[in-house]
Amino acid sequence: MNFQSVNVSLIREQNLSLVLQYLLQNSPQTSRTDLMRLTHLSGTTVSALVNILLNSGFVSETGVGESIGGRRPITLELNPTFAYSMGVDIGASHITCMIIDLKGNVVASLSEPFDVIHKAHATMKRAKELLTRMLEIAHLDLSRVAGLGVSIPAPLDGEKQDRLLAFYMPDWEGMVVLDELRPFFDLPMFLENDANAGGIAEKWWGVGRQHHSLAFIKLGVGVGAGLIINDEIYRGFAGSAGEIGHTTIESKGRLCRCGNRGCMESYVGIPGILKDVQSRRGISESSLMTIEDVIAAAKNGEPVNTEVLQTAGRYLGIAIANLLNLVNPEIVILNGYIMDAGDMLMQEVVSSMLERTLPLRAEFTPIVASRLGRDAVAMGAATLVIHQSIQPEYINRFLHLT
Ligand SMILES: [Zn+2]
Repeated sequence: MNFQSVNVSLIREQNLSLVLQYLLQNSPQTSRTDLMRLTHLSGTTVSALVNILLNSGFVSETGVGESIGGRRPITLELNPTFAYSMGVDIGASHITCMIIDLKGNVVASLSEPFDVIHKAHATMKRAKELLTRMLEIAHLDLSRVAGLGVSIPAPLDGEKQDRLLAFYMPDWEGMVVLDELRPFFDLPMFLENDANAGGIAEKWWGVGRQHHSLAFIKLGVGVGAGLIINDEIYRGFAGSAGEIGHTTIESKGRLCRCGNRGCMESYVGIPGILKDVQSRRGISESSLMTIEDVIAAAKNGEPVNTEVLQTAGRYLGIAIANLLNLVNPEIVILNGYIMDAGDMLMQEVVSSMLERTLPLRAEFTPIVASRLGRDAVAMGAATLVIHQSIQPEYINRFLHLT
């Protein structure tokens, strides 16, 4: 291949990537004229690209659209089952697998509790079994699947992006996560932090659809944020951007699992909330109380539980104020079991945030609950595959072009 033909194929891949982004993210039904307007590509180029997509089966011509003068345009429609995408959300204490189509419809999913933190290899073995079972349930073989996305409940190692920073999960130290799955699935694979995966899911299918920058805050045992800036995940220099749970909000506050004092996570993370309720109500720390129990009792009028949740909301609001001051995203999306507390939490979050962000006019930054709820991270793991597959370097494989 000479220099010129390399350039031509590179340009074709970049243009295809652009067209696919529009078809997948904006409008699954469009015309060649719409594509010209949206991508600023010439009519000849768009026609050539559409021919490639028609031949591959990615789109089909489905009818005649609205005329805006002149010939009525033919509508192109994305074929959502052109490829499927598979994801697995490895949480702190669960494994959730999911298959989605190209419109984000959930085709199959499987989930079970698992002691992920303490059992690295056993976790990945179980993930493999669940993925295999899910493919059987969906009657899909791997030739129909574009790739596999894996999300993990820890930041990726900045230097070695194939493993995680195992600070809280020592059993995972040094493990090349995707290597545990490669022998069983001959697919492109992508590894991502859970909050980043959730952010990608909301950007593609949830409340973040209209936005180019967003913060997705995952509130669980730990608290982390996925930052999407200009449509891409922002990881920072060493991969630890978005570790909002470890921002200090009380300089002499309580000890956090990271070793520092006064981290937001130690007040807003589930263990901190449970401990507060137990100590203030004189309940033994060994009692099997869950965050669902705490929220249910608060909704039934238990004042201590309500106060603890409101305090957590205020601390979360402070952390969000700091985030808005630094990053200024268009929208902040909150996800996690604690969101079941509803207004009693959200009112404190918003008022505490607004107190600290007056100069920003932060009232224009919506703080909303995730639309995808408990599915967000698994869906994001699957969506990563689509997000990556339409990048120029993967597009030929995705469209089965040579
Ligand atoms: Zn901390």
